[in-house]
Amino acid sequence: MRFKIAVLPGDGIGPEVCREAVRVLRALNAFHDSEFQLVEKPIGGEAIRKTGTPLPQSTLETCLNSDAVLLGAVGAPEFDHLSGTQRPETGLLQLRTALGGFANLRPAISFDAIVDCSPLKRSRVEGADVLIVRELLGGLYFSHPRGFGESQRDAFNTMRYSTEEIIRVARVAFEQARSRRKKLTSVDKANVLETSQLWRQTVNQVSLSYPDVKLEHMYVDACAMHLVSNPTRFDVILTENLFGDILSDEAAAITGSLGMLASATVGGTVNLYEPVHGSAPDIAGKGLANPLGAIASAAMLLRHSAGMAQEATDLEAAIHEVLDDGYRTADLAQPGAVNIVSTTKMGELVEQAFVATMDRRFSYHAV
Ligand code: NAD
Repeated sequence: MRFKIAVLPGDGIGPEVCREAVRVLRALNAFHDSEFQLVEKPIGGEAIRKTGTPLPQSTLETCLNSDAVLLGAVGAPEFDHLSGTQRPETGLLQLRTALGGFANLRPAISFDAIVDCSPLKRSRVEGADVLIVRELLGGLYFSHPRGFGESQRDAFNTMRYSTEEIIRVARVAFEQARSRRKKLTSVDKANVLETSQLWRQTVNQVSLSYPDVKLEHMYVDACAMHLVSNPTRFDVILTENLFGDILSDEAAAITGSLGMLASATVGGTVNLYEPVHGSAPDIAGKGLANPLGAIASAAMLLRHSAGMAQEATDLEAAIHEVLDDGYRTADLAQPGAVNIVSTTKMGELVEQAFVATMDRRFSYHAV
């Protein structure tokens, strides 16, 4: 079986971290009948330089004709003075809209080896493993009416949700909880907002199909507090767009480095996988970028798009192993750390650990 992945490296450190994610995906080809066919296309500033537009038609068509999209990052200082559709970031927004993913999955994991990178106390954060499922296409960011009043002295936005929009993202969250520790926290502000009351009723309805998943409801302000004071109490958090935007960034503090964070946007025509960080022009081209967020995004691709849950788990275990062995990119360097490695070296180490696991698995099956 051929599995086609559109690879969009983008700008700054995007190509550097993408190269390492591609490295581990290619390594899988040696073990499977299925073959990853990787097609690289420009997006963002790179695409503007080549074609004059941040999302060229051929990039979009390749994405829509692929089984998954893997993206690095977009944004370059040379375009900072431009506005609107001339900016590299517009290419990513246009792509997300065209792919139509309505659920954004953001894991926040405390890795034992780098637990002290978190600004939170070790005792609070140790063992935390939270998945935030954020509704991505509705709510305050998209609903109408919106705008400025005639006098320009007032402005307004609308938060609107339909039951259909809530049901489809709730199902994604329940499915995720079912495959993890079977606990779902649905976050809203039902004491104040009608959209949240509908959200709560609808999530309760959906929960009837998932009797094995323990559902709780929590107000967003309480959730913000618990995420930093007791993050281990959470498994999967389901929430609407605005709350999810804020809570997923807050949850990032659990992991401790932006370079570690992965994401998936699912539910649309084609799923999109990307590290959470931007193009980091301050460190681009220096071999300093942490590729683990991009590699963890590739693991999410294996799990959510390629039907390779075991391989995804193996790849995540390889990331843990390399960190446990003491290797760090510069962003993870604690005082006294010795094994500081470049972006490429970190990718090679994860590939080696991953391939060793796959070797063991396949030789076990061969005897
Ligand atoms: P950024 O995420 O690029 O960088 C913030 C800080 O984190 C920087 O100090 C950077 O060096 C560091 N950092 C980020 N990723 C890292 C990694 N993998 N390894 C080590 N250190 C890392 O955010 P920014 O500086 O606000 O934005 C830079 C550009 O990226 C802007 O043009 C912005 O619009 C764009 N951006 C793109 C995305 C995206 O493509 N999804 C997201 C955010 C920002």
